[in-house]
Amino acid sequence: MMLLLLCPKCKNKMKYQSKTIILTGKRKICVYCGFSYKIKDNIAERLK
Ligand SMILES: [Zn+2]
Repeated sequence: MMLLLLCPKCKNKMKYQSKTIILTGKRKICVYCGFSYKIKDNIAERLK
């Protein structure tokens, strides 16, 4: 599953490849500003 995530801090979008559909408690470190955010709450788009 490929997701497009939106950083809540700098608003940049980035792709995220997930092996599982369960995203509870998973975090991503923004590649642009280094901010760590919850994946589940910041999904901009689900890619196929
Ligand atoms: Zn950011």
